[in-house]
Amino acid sequence: DVAVEVRGVCKMYNDVEALRSIDLDFPVGKLTTLLGPSGCGKTTLLKIIAGLIPATSGEIRVNGKVVTGPGPERAFVFQDFALMPWATVMRNVAFGLELKGMGKDERQSIARKYIAEVGLTGFENKYPHELSGGMRQRVGLARAFAVNADVLLLDEPFSAVDEQNRRKFQEDLLRLVELEKKTFIFVTHSIEEAVYCSDRIVILSRRPGRIAQVIEPDIDHNES
Ligand code: ADP
Ligand code: ADP
Repeated sequence: DVAVEVRGVCKMYNDVEALRSIDLDFPVGKLTTLLGPSGCGKTTLLKIIAGLIPATSGEIRVNGKVVTGPGPERAFVFQDFALMPWATVMRNVAFGLELKGMGKDERQSIARKYIAEVGLTGFENKYPHELSGGMRQRVGLARAFAVNADVLLLDEPFSAVDEQNRRKFQEDLLRLVELEKKTFIFVTHSIEEAVYCSDRIVILSRRPGRIAQVIEPDIDHNES
């Protein structure tokens, strides 16, 4: 089963060609990383899949349907779509559920569960500026999980986490991936991170962004 299909996607920023004719399938329940050097178009591709920017040509299908903007079946964490600074950790994590019209008790109980999963129990009433960069990334991750989307899109989710906490954060994420059986697409420029975390690695090459290779580190030969 395929969660996200990318078909013939090209992206021009004025005269900069960021992506050239990308075709990719993202299987349901797999964690795929987009790996490549800075400027190869990883964030652009992720934002097009999220529906935050339009492709110049080509299309994106999610669960078989063409999408042209954001939708509830996709949740994302991007550095430039950060937390609401005026809201507590609890409010930030529960916000997507609030938008869906879920009652306060129910959404807070769901939010509390994911705040615990990312190791931030006790920080529910803090504001983003009271947290470290790595902790804010964890809040973003909890918020993405809380809305219960089928597809999670994460842009450099470990970038603000210092070296000694990174492996722990990665293990928290992998535990959530195992638990939730969702489709993950995350962007990194770290080979180490890609190999450690993913079922599939898509390598993009630079100028213009094209797919150089798709690698599946642990292919299960019992799967047909
Ligand atoms: P990556 O995430 O792999 O570092 P990006 O998707 O951010 O790559 O960028 C791909 C290319 O598109 C780069 O050449 C970058 O300079 C260019 N680019 C990205 N965003 C914009 C923008 N908003 N306007 C113009 N050029 C952009
Ligand atoms: P950064 O890389 O931005 O500093 P980290 O996530 O690595 O962010 O955390 C930075 C500091 O915050 C570290 O000293 C770490 O021990 C502390 N910290 C991180 N998460 C927690 C937590 N759940 N409870 C208490 N302290 C934490």
